[in-house]
Amino acid sequence: MIKVKDVRKSFGKLEVLKGINFNVASGEVVVIIGPSGSGKSTLLRCLNNLEVINDGKIFIMDQMISTKQKEIYKMRENIGMVFQRFNLFPHKTVLENIMEAPMLVKKISKNNAENLALQLLKKVGLEDKRSVYPSHLSGGQQQRVAIARALAMQPKIMLFDEPTSALDPELVGEVLAVMKDLAKEGMTMVVVTHEMGFAREMADRVVFMDDGKILAEGSPKEVFSNPDQPRLREFLNKIL
Ligand code: ADP
Ligand code: MG
Repeated sequence: MIKVKDVRKSFGKLEVLKGINFNVASGEVVVIIGPSGSGKSTLLRCLNNLEVINDGKIFIMDQMISTKQKEIYKMRENIGMVFQRFNLFPHKTVLENIMEAPMLVKKISKNNAENLALQLLKKVGLEDKRSVYPSHLSGGQQQRVAIARALAMQPKIMLFDEPTSALDPELVGEVLAVMKDLAKEGMTMVVVTHEMGFAREMADRVVFMDDGKILAEGSPKEVFSNPDQPRLREFLNKIL
């Protein structure tokens, strides 16, 4: 589903991705961990073509990421993204937030968009909030709406960038539960998170990034139980 080959990305003189190689198979759940500033968000943004890479190649479902605007939009339809901040439209209800993109981008009818949105709200456990505005929801509920909104485009891949980092601790579980359901349904997922419980339980593979490079990767067991990479050991000692 995703092939990343020798990818480099700089911001001015600062090289943020220093030759990344990374593949994700269909249905795989890959968790990316690593210290702040190591390039995790930049990597996800490159996958979604929110950043243009300086070198290397990225293939999404065997198609090379291009710089042609029309193709970029087409590819993005295959990829849903959920950020730390929920970015819901404040002046739209929960239902309208979810209906917007399928109607605008995929040109599906209002009726169909509404049915789809209701189905997705049910999936994230928020059917009763359909007419509510985002400001009246908790952070956890807003993030679940954000997930439903991303799913409304029926993506083949979901990218999550620290989806629970902005939440009060007691709200983290409800968002992780939705993500676990998705993973169990076979969604291909790349998740940047500090939730090591989620990584242990759900990840097929854990990738450790440090200073723009992938320094270690393997099953959760390999990465957490017996880290032989010194930087990884140091990182795990800090967060566990
Ligand atoms: P992480 O998500 O692992 O914390 P990021 O990918 O956000 O790391 O950032 C990696 C480095 O790139 C940081 O030093 C950050 O300051 C820098 N960076 C990220 N985005 C930009 C940008 N748009 N312009 C300049 N520097 C950036
Ligand atoms: Mg980040």
